Amino acid sequence: MINYENIIDTLALNQNEDAGKIREVLAKAKEAKGLATDDIATLATINDPELLNELFQTAKWVKNQIYGNRLVLFAPLYIANYCTNECLYCAFRASNKTLKRSALTQEEVAHETTQLIDQGQKRILLVAGETHTEAGFQYILDAIKTIYATKHKNGEIRRINVNIAPLSLDNFKRLHDAEIGTYQLFQETYHPKVYKQVHISGKKADYNWRLTAIDRAMQAGIDDVGIGVLFGLADWRFELLALLQHSQYLDQHFGVGPHTISVPRIEPASGSDFASNPPHAVNDQDFAKIVAILRLAVPFTGLIMSTRETPETRRKTLELGVSQISAGSRTNPGGYSESEADACQFSLGDHRSIDEVIRDVASLGYIPSFCTACYRLGRTGEHFMDLAKAGKIKSMCHPNAIATFQEYLEDYASQETTDVGEKLIKQELSNLPKNTATLVNKMLAKIKSGERDVYV
Ligand code: SAM
Ligand code: SF4
Repeated sequence: MINYENIIDTLALNQNEDAGKIREVLAKAKEAKGLATDDIATLATINDPELLNELFQTAKWVKNQIYGNRLVLFAPLYIANYCTNECLYCAFRASNKTLKRSALTQEEVAHETTQLIDQGQKRILLVAGETHTEAGFQYILDAIKTIYATKHKNGEIRRINVNIAPLSLDNFKRLHDAEIGTYQLFQETYHPKVYKQVHISGKKADYNWRLTAIDRAMQAGIDDVGIGVLFGLADWRFELLALLQHSQYLDQHFGVGPHTISVPRIEPASGSDFASNPPHAVNDQDFAKIVAILRLAVPFTGLIMSTRETPETRRKTLELGVSQISAGSRTNPGGYSESEADACQFSLGDHRSIDEVIRDVASLGYIPSFCTACYRLGRTGEHFMDLAKAGKIKSMCHPNAIATFQEYLEDYASQETTDVGEKLIKQELSNLPKNTATLVNKMLAKIKSGERDVYV
């Protein structure tokens, strides 16, 4: 799955910045058919400002061709911070005695869900530490049920993605039956030696159990999966090539690559000196490069940026390729109901409310989308990728993005955000082909007359 020697050799062969080769790869990238590991290694050598600018311009172009100006929004929902693992970078690790531990009751899960619904969220990412017991897993299944069952005013959560520890095949089947959206799991680092150094004990210390988790999830029928790397642990070039190898492996074995890739950078975490001084910290320029290269390497895979990053970094990487962002996030169980700073997983870089984030991205010309149509219409996995590759994302996702944005403006936005949003939607309608504009106008009329959850 991950060919360690091949990565080392490919990086060794691509150490010098070769402008001719780089421009060849950029030209190939414009075909939006993806890149090989050798191409990625070539792009990773870029340092010259002119070539860097060409990389960024190409990434912007590809992003715009495939995703247009849509931007999917979600929020994490942390339900428990107990953990039996010992990951050096995480505040939830078992030996961290300073952390206040809790697991939300089902009533509290419903309460947190209501808070998120009242902010206008429709998609959440359920997150928990690892307990590795049947009771712990049943608790997660119960929480999923509770979240889907919670309704408030016009709102509800329509898609629950999950980021929880690897499961057995049987438990992945149970997770699939719970109707999750994406199963997301970061390998953290694909470098076996570094992996061992930072995952000291607990089930997570087993590199292969984690690496093969996505296979088990897909074998269990979960065909939207998310992978990722925690940047800062090993050399980012190594991780990029490994990410691509993992993606290619999934494509070859299951007919579809990952639905999303996440690019978290290590943030300071309470009780972890390691998190404040990661061995391979990635600077802002390299981080932008990572996003741009990934955009070109896997053009149809969603790229996720969390509130770990500052508003400035988020704005910059949106242009370069990010297609989903979280907003208004809390990383402690119960964080949307009350602020408990000593129970957080890591520090956030973006503290703005969802309304502020939406106003900001809309004023930059992005349509915030809460769309969950594909998942509910069975357009997942290979089926979704086929549509995406046939260029149909825009004609479905764009109307749905505008419709869900209008829903947000009707039900949750401040006056200031409504003003920015209405203006953007009007401008968007004037740029759409006539047929699509007619369709969207019909959808908007339904929403304005009180109908909700309107999608194609
Ligand atoms: N416990 C499960 C696991 O580790 O896979 C799932 C939840 S864990 C809370 C989600 C992710 O948080 C981890 O995969 C890791 O990449 C990320 N994380 C942990 N500590 C972090 C830190 N200090 N800064 C940024 N991200 C961190
Ligand atoms: Fe536990 Fe996940 Fe944090 Fe590791 S990253 S300590 S497994 S919650």
